Amino acid sequence: PGTQPLGGQLKAGAHSGGPAVEADGLGKSYGAVRALRGVDLAVPYGTVRGLLGPNGAGKTTLVRLLATLLRPSAGRAEVGGFDIVREAGRVREVIGLAGQYAAIDENLTGRENLAMVGRLHHMGRGAAARRADELLDRFSLAEAGGRMARGYSGGMRRRLDLAASMVAEPKILFLDEPTTGLDPRSRLDLWEVIGELVADGTTVLLTTQHMEEADHLADVITVIDRGSVIAEGTPEQLKARCGGTRLSIRVADPARTPDARSVAATVGLDEPTEDGAAGRVEVTVESDAGPLAQAVRLLDAAGVAISDISLRQPTLDDVFLALTGQRADGDEQEAAP
Ligand code: ATP
Repeated sequence: PGTQPLGGQLKAGAHSGGPAVEADGLGKSYGAVRALRGVDLAVPYGTVRGLLGPNGAGKTTLVRLLATLLRPSAGRAEVGGFDIVREAGRVREVIGLAGQYAAIDENLTGRENLAMVGRLHHMGRGAAARRADELLDRFSLAEAGGRMARGYSGGMRRRLDLAASMVAEPKILFLDEPTTGLDPRSRLDLWEVIGELVADGTTVLLTTQHMEEADHLADVITVIDRGSVIAEGTPEQLKARCGGTRLSIRVADPARTPDARSVAATVGLDEPTEDGAAGRVEVTVESDAGPLAQAVRLLDAAGVAISDISLRQPTLDDVFLALTGQRADGDEQEAAP
């Protein structure tokens, strides 16, 4: 993945070697509400970028700017090498957009919906029909293709919406909370489909409030809060920033918690935390198993019985909480005046 045409083969206006999406100081205000405050972003071709942030962080605004549905109040951006303001039409030719904008006609069948999108992209009748069938197959909608979209389940709608965004074979795909409202099974199915698109070289920019989704799909995650980028890195880098691996010790006799605590302090990298009543002590350690083995030896030597000992990786939830405070499920932003 990640291959792209060489400069000579590119359409005029597109730049070789540059990122698929590049933003410099991108800003957007709605009246007095500053929804985006100077966002820089560079997404290489063939990668998945997760945009993570609480409600009102500005994720949708950013995607709508990049998709040319809104005009920036400040800064600039290029998508596929085209300027989002001066070359908005070219940008629209290279992107697909799916998610919160579901442009499905309820009274058409799945097949008709896709064929219609093809016609809107100036495909001939036959080509549009063939593309529709191809996509119905790919998104496991072949059997449902002849039924009206009105009768589709949530998961089927999301797949149809995603299929519609793929009709013109976009190189760059914007997905705004693609799995919100789906049951776990449909979510997994959709993750699989997105994974296949990426394996075929599609660049994906995906907004989500689900840490697990970002963890699973994104190569790099950009965390946005109150209109600004507050962190960026691979899921592993973000987790490491958040303090690294935790060693958790539980002693059989809670009265021995202080002994466990001193062992944890010996093998750990920071101040241990303890829950005396439960006999549990936690401390941050190096990510290999050395400190765990050492702790077992020290506890054994001190005659302290262990009922449980384990290493725990921080989750993106931990990261998110550490970065944004307690705002994971989103207080409202400052209201308009
Ligand atoms: P969510 O996850 O809820 O979709 P988000 O991160 O996508 O949130 P945005 O929808 O981009 O956030 O909103 C960012 C800020 O801009 C919020 O404070 C929101 O209230 C405000 N906002 C968004 N659209 C408008 C609008 N059309 N007029 C005024 N304010 C707006």
